[in-house]
This record gives sequence, structure tokens and C-alpha cells, in this order.
Amino acid sequence: MPRAKGRARDYTEAGIRRVPCCVNGCRNKARFQWRICADGNRARALCAAHDVELNEMVLRWAFGRSAASKARAYRRKVEEAEALDVIRALARDLVRRPARKSGAKAHVHDVRRAAR
Ligand SMILES: [Zn+2]
Repeated sequence: MPRAKGRARDYTEAGIRRVPCCVNGCRNKARFQWRICADGNRARALCAAHDVELNEMVLRWAFGRSAASKARAYRRKVEEAEALDVIRALARDLVRRPARKSGAKAHVHDVRRAAR
């Protein structure tokens, strides 16, 4: 995936998942977007891990230690959403690719043999 240069318009929900994270050296797919005024205010794509890191950094900078619980809550929320995404992708994959018939027959055969 080529590294995105950022966009003037917001990424759509589907579009953000088609670009890589903008952080140097990161190869993760993006999930969120950020705009930095000093960066031309362009929409920049971020993966979930870097979005959490950036939120924690800004919370700490703005509010100090008192924002630690907000940072933990946000990390938990993003991690749960990511886990749900993985489960949904696995479920979609299972629906698209049903179990091979030969494998199923072999299993039935093995069960019959074991029953004798
Ligand atoms: Zn990243």
C-alpha cells in the first residue's frame, strides 16, 4: 500500500480502511483520522494503536496524570472495537468459504470407524 499524503476531505468509513497508517515505519491498516493544523490541516490516516498512543499523549500533555483513567477507558474501547472487527472478519470469511466437502467426508468416515 502506498503511504497516503493526507486528504483535504475526511476519509469515509470504508475509505479509511484502504490506506496505511501515516506514522513512519508503521505498516498497519488505518482505522482513524487526525488533522494537525501545522501539517496543512489534512486528514491523516492512523492505525488503532497509534490513535490510542496519540490520544494518551495529548491527554497527558493537556491534563496531566488526572487524565490517566480517561486514557485507559479509551484504550479499552478501541481494543474491544478492534477485537469485534477481527471476529466479524473471521465470520465473513467462514460464510464465504464453507468447509471443504472432502474434509467433512473424511471426518464422518473416521467417526464411523471409531464407533465399530
Ligand atoms: Zn500505526
